[in-house]
Amino acid sequence: MRMHLRGVVLPDDEVRDLWVRDGVISYEPVLDAETLCDTGWIVPGLVDAHCHVGIRYGGGHEDREGAIAQAEVERDTGALLLRDAGSPIDTRFIDDHHELPKIIRAGRHIARPKRYIRELGIELDDERDLPDIVAEQARFGDGWVKIVGDWIDRSAGDLRPLWSDAILKEAIDAAHREGARVTAHVFGEDALPGLINAGIDCLEHGTGLTADTIEMMAEHGTALVPTLVNIDTFPDIADSATKFPVYAAHMRDLHRRVRHTVADAHAAGVPIYTGTDAGGSIRHGRIADEIDALAGAGLSRHEALAAASWRAREWLGRPGIEDGAPADFVVYRTDPRGSRAALDAPAFVVLRGRVYPRRDPVTGHR
Ligand SMILES: [Zn+2]
Repeated sequence: MRMHLRGVVLPDDEVRDLWVRDGVISYEPVLDAETLCDTGWIVPGLVDAHCHVGIRYGGGHEDREGAIAQAEVERDTGALLLRDAGSPIDTRFIDDHHELPKIIRAGRHIARPKRYIRELGIELDDERDLPDIVAEQARFGDGWVKIVGDWIDRSAGDLRPLWSDAILKEAIDAAHREGARVTAHVFGEDALPGLINAGIDCLEHGTGLTADTIEMMAEHGTALVPTLVNIDTFPDIADSATKFPVYAAHMRDLHRRVRHTVADAHAAGVPIYTGTDAGGSIRHGRIADEIDALAGAGLSRHEALAAASWRAREWLGRPGIEDGAPADFVVYRTDPRGSRAALDAPAFVVLRGRVYPRRDPVTGHR
């Protein structure tokens, strides 16, 4: 379909005419293009940088149909690029579905026995295997590897790191030799110095960050994906951990201070990106909630949208709105930086030059 759009293009914040032909953006007029809008805001395709296509809501592995349904829900909210942060199933078949968002895979979670959600990850009996397994998952993924940095240790009754500092350094070096970046699930304080000093590229959740570890992240340029909509489940996790009162109190404290933690990290210059942690305990399609949550945690509404769009795309090596780039963008009727309500209702989404939701071929209605 050949299309023409006119609206305020972000992040430039200027009214511009765009054309789309063969799935690609053109700054030059395209003949016989249908005008889809002559007012509105046009935003580079949103990014959910922590999104598990393949983990069923409520737990377990999703089947192919279920994974497709999850990806469709993400697309319709405007999330057109997903970094999967670990999936138990091989979602590579989704690459053949041009109507579905692009997934940047991180292979499978790497953990230790009894130290993560059962049956999701690869569990290593001996931590010395970590560098080899990281290298293997680096070759399997799309430039990212996901390790579990800490989890409850039931014998200690609290969060504890899974790995020694020395093996983390070896493992992250191994991933970098494969050309992959590494990220880690981390809730508590203790695992952070070892991960950051080992040169990890990103931290997921990061609720245990303190002034010292925030400064270390800023020095190393480590990114943070706070997943605030997931952190809001911490009080429920604490309520169900009656056998582990120290852990429960710890989780409540991490939750209580998380918005200050994110604000402090942002103020220190740590790059922050949106991730919902959809799959398992969070439903898919929550990107607007996460943008809104970041806007309540020290980022302006403009910065929160940037963290979910052009800045995240740049971080993941994908173009924004430019001449010759794939036509992946979201159109809003009102400024998506203006209010929560504006974010909730994209007028329509364009993915690879096709419009969603699709219009009825008879009535022309969406
Ligand atoms: Zn996750």
